[in-house]
Amino acid sequence: MSTKLTDSNTLFLEGNTKFYVPKNSLIQTPPPRTPVFFNTMAKFKRNLLISIFNSYASQSSHKLTFSDTLSGVGATGLRLANESNYVQKIYFNDANVNVSELLQKSINYNNLDSSTEVSINEANKFLSNFTNRDTRFDFIDLDPFGSPIQYIDSAVRSLKINGVISLTATDGAVLCGVYPKVCLRKYGSISLNTEYFNETALRILLFSLASISSHYELGIKPLFCHTDKHYIQAYVQITDSISDTEGKIGFLGHCSTCQNRVISELPILSCNLCSSDNKIAGPIWTGNIFDKSFLNIAINNTDDSNLLKLYENALFESSLPPLYYVTDNISKNLKISSFPVETILLKLKENNFLSSKTILHSTGFRTNANIEEINSLLSKISTSNI
Ligand SMILES: [Zn+2]
Repeated sequence: MSTKLTDSNTLFLEGNTKFYVPKNSLIQTPPPRTPVFFNTMAKFKRNLLISIFNSYASQSSHKLTFSDTLSGVGATGLRLANESNYVQKIYFNDANVNVSELLQKSINYNNLDSSTEVSINEANKFLSNFTNRDTRFDFIDLDPFGSPIQYIDSAVRSLKINGVISLTATDGAVLCGVYPKVCLRKYGSISLNTEYFNETALRILLFSLASISSHYELGIKPLFCHTDKHYIQAYVQITDSISDTEGKIGFLGHCSTCQNRVISELPILSCNLCSSDNKIAGPIWTGNIFDKSFLNIAINNTDDSNLLKLYENALFESSLPPLYYVTDNISKNLKISSFPVETILLKLKENNFLSSKTILHSTGFRTNANIEEINSLLSKISTSNI
């Protein structure tokens, strides 16, 4: 198997790091899982992880250990080892035996032997080797194909108190409400397909993490969340305070007649605006999905203009209510022509409502106004023919 690898690899540059990848992974779409998986499209995601790692590590008194739990070619861990000043040691792991030789070549090329370790193991078995108090990780990346749910328990047990888990799910159809019964079976929560589908998905993922962490009386504190069309991702600190989770698990009710939405501790079965039946999703995480003080640290620690914009926008929306609105859907429902999101933000502010764009949707916004109030403001705009 390993002889096949020798002629089929190429040196690839991403960020400031060169590493070996199978040529097949660069020419086939989507990249094949064999001989070793590598996704060139995930560059932004890796840039983000490095930035979050550096921001988190900048607040620590020591250098950090990092688990590249399902490493593939090791792009994330190699880049961290090479580009971050805060790395104590990177632990690579993959179940694919082909990874070992390829990764060792990249480690040798970058002279990273003393700050890295490679193992070939099933991810849960690998993580279980690090559950002793003195061997736990500072930062764990869980980025599998599909759902990360089967690895969360092992990750929580092998993470230091106040350490960070980067959790990625690519089973969007399950979490976003296309398969609510599968979601209930896997994540213990019913999903719902709405205009804010990715926020519900994030909140279900966070609920699952909070639920598993609470088995050990541990709390969760989401630092930053992000989605794109291929994945849902949450960076979450695991704390020793269960009170960080208490009162932050609940349900959402969505009225498909008037588009009203509500979050509550127990399900609310009918719409408080039009009395139609609500569709119910949950349990979900109802607490914050962005941490203000962490975002300020991240803003001060990055010079990447794309990431800076992302953090700054997240900071604006971090204190606004859950479940964003989408301008295109509102204009469609009101049968008025579409309008830029800035128009409604301005109108809401003029009428003393809080409002902000959201990083979760390009034409989405958050506000403390309800749908009746939003519609009323927009009808006035529409009749004044802006
Ligand atoms: Zn309603």
